[in-house]
Amino acid sequence: MRIAMIGTGYVGSVAGVCFAENGHDVICVDQDRKKVQELSKGNPVIYEPGLEPLLKRNLAARRIRFTDSISEAVQQSEIVFMTVGTPSKADGSANLDYLENAAREVGRAVRSPIVVVNKSTVPVGTHRWVAAWIRDETTVPVQVVSNPEFLREGAALRDFMEPDRVVIGTHHPEAFQMMRRLYLPFVKQASQIIRMDPVSAELTKYACNAFLATRISFMNDLSHLCEKAGGDIEHVQRGMGSDTRIGPRFLNAGIGYGGSCFPKDIRALLRTAQEHEISLRIVSAVEEVNERQKLTLVPKILAHLGRFAAKKKVTLWGLAFKPQTDDTRESPAIVLAQELIRRGVRVAVFDPVAASKALETLGPQVEYCDDPYSALRDSNALVIATEWPEFQNPDYARVKLLMTEPAIFDGRNLLSADAATRAGFSYWSIGRKPRTGARIRVREPNVVI
Ligand code: NAD
Repeated sequence: MRIAMIGTGYVGSVAGVCFAENGHDVICVDQDRKKVQELSKGNPVIYEPGLEPLLKRNLAARRIRFTDSISEAVQQSEIVFMTVGTPSKADGSANLDYLENAAREVGRAVRSPIVVVNKSTVPVGTHRWVAAWIRDETTVPVQVVSNPEFLREGAALRDFMEPDRVVIGTHHPEAFQMMRRLYLPFVKQASQIIRMDPVSAELTKYACNAFLATRISFMNDLSHLCEKAGGDIEHVQRGMGSDTRIGPRFLNAGIGYGGSCFPKDIRALLRTAQEHEISLRIVSAVEEVNERQKLTLVPKILAHLGRFAAKKKVTLWGLAFKPQTDDTRESPAIVLAQELIRRGVRVAVFDPVAASKALETLGPQVEYCDDPYSALRDSNALVIATEWPEFQNPDYARVKLLMTEPAIFDGRNLLSADAATRAGFSYWSIGRKPRTGARIRVREPNVVI
């Protein structure tokens, strides 16, 4: 099939490359010319494991190309995917400006009947808006389909190539058949392609993200009780996760969820509910718990630093909102760094891939380091903010030698508490009692946030 992909960010570039890999003729559009240039040369503009070789292979096979012209792409395609961003507006609702601009341009460009597929995450009812924006610009028949995307950054290629399910929201039988043909090679069984009405498809995406975030916030909430009562959230997690009715995923306690999806989608869902005069109390609580959780380590770090916190240095390992991505949008690591800076603390950071993206939000107020160990020089505390596997087994002796004080705040429960304390570190984590392995006496947290 001849496919256009409008918006070549995390979703559009992955979807475009995967469709091309499946033998389709794909043309990807982005309004950002620099992205178009880089992608045309085979350089992905995001860090996503496995994307670069796949992009290069499909460029060489001439199955994929990139342009900044929507009309060029639309006029050569039967199916047009919308994969533009839908960030939060100040009131929490989804900003649909990018989608509207793209839809209107599609309407102005279209010359023969096409299917327009909305893959961006959008509030319920947006498919009607997309159809109306296109209809404003053309009389050519266009069928609008809702096809939410469930890929995870860091595992995006596998998620796209082997999806658990594909949700297709449409009232048009021909459009559904076309989408079914497109996706059949990606699923093991046809039953994984789930047809529904467009509103339900739009809502399914928000429901999934809100539910996964609920699991995280539930564990984070419980982690406070564990700390006070003397339990260990990791044990509770194992005990819960091995129940087949519950399952082990999305039960990790930590410094909260972030990224470009959960926070904004939860805000948008709450906003949609408000517009329908419904109160989603569980979802509200999920967001509230997460906001608090991002700063849960701050009073403990400040208590450890003591009276002269402003003269001291804290090192953050990790800036991305999760490992295997360079995405720092709404990353708890960034929020934590900003709060420490606000308190006058000197902050040094290291992330294997996300430093240049973090620079856009954090600016020059932190010290960016090229390797995890140089970031530790003269530091009074190490904070693990992203669970990159390479942080899991640090050279404790080297770390201790470099730091002024041997103190670790593990915001992702990544390290072995025993190993850290055996190596002489004071060790704080999430949902477990602090462990003092060295001579340092830790005062009770004395800072209220
Ligand atoms: P992104 O910001 O990485 O990419 C969006 C791209 O669209 C940008 O490159 C931008 O330049 C381009 N764009 C905007 N308006 C355009 C226009 N009129 N013409 C051409 N290009 C245009 O966003 P993303 O992370 O890929 O997310 C896209 C959508 O998919 C969002 O709605 C998001 O919620 C959803 N989603 C994202 C993920 C994820 O993991 N990132 C997963 C599932 C769903």
